[in-house]
Amino acid sequence: MSAELRIPLDIAEVKILATEISDDGRLVIEVESTLDTVQCGICGREIACRYGHGQERTLRHLPVLDMQTYIQIRPRRGQCKDCEYEPTTTQVVPWYEERSPHIFAYDQWLMKQLVNTTVEDVSMRENIGYDAVVGALDRQIETTVNWSEMGDLGTIGIDEIALKKGRKNYAAIVTARQKDGKCRVLAVLPDRKKRQ
Ligand SMILES: [Zn+2]
Repeated sequence: MSAELRIPLDIAEVKILATEISDDGRLVIEVESTLDTVQCGICGREIACRYGHGQERTLRHLPVLDMQTYIQIRPRRGQCKDCEYEPTTTQVVPWYEERSPHIFAYDQWLMKQLVNTTVEDVSMRENIGYDAVVGALDRQIETTVNWSEMGDLGTIGIDEIALKKGRKNYAAIVTARQKDGKCRVLAVLPDRKKRQ
């Protein structure tokens, strides 16, 4: 048996239920949220997550040892006894967006992959669709920067991305290379020609 390693998952407030390497070489990590409550979608009260689970989600995470890596989660659900008809609410966690196929960290990773290359290249390299890369860009556009998380800014870089070949349709990624060598995505700016 070969040596094994333990690495931090880097997602807050989850526990790992199982990990599996599929036959086609994907790493699938099954997790569960350790947060016990959710805000009722109707009245906003904090309610306990004791109403089973929503539909299973599979979300792309950063690669581990060059394996495509996925987080699998069944979001927890709560039921509000105070609202009429006792509605249920699915828990929202801060590390992925409801309609996104990626966790936030993977969207950020894609932005860094886009520097000095094209959407097509990143799409091929990561084995995801062109639209999945553009979707990640759209989700990052004009997101606010959490300055308190930033140390020194280091070197700021601005890279333009051609979204479609032969069209003047650009977005720009603003990155900071900090003293520790880490590259952070500060912002994604929209196309020069504003989409209507
Ligand atoms: Zn309620």
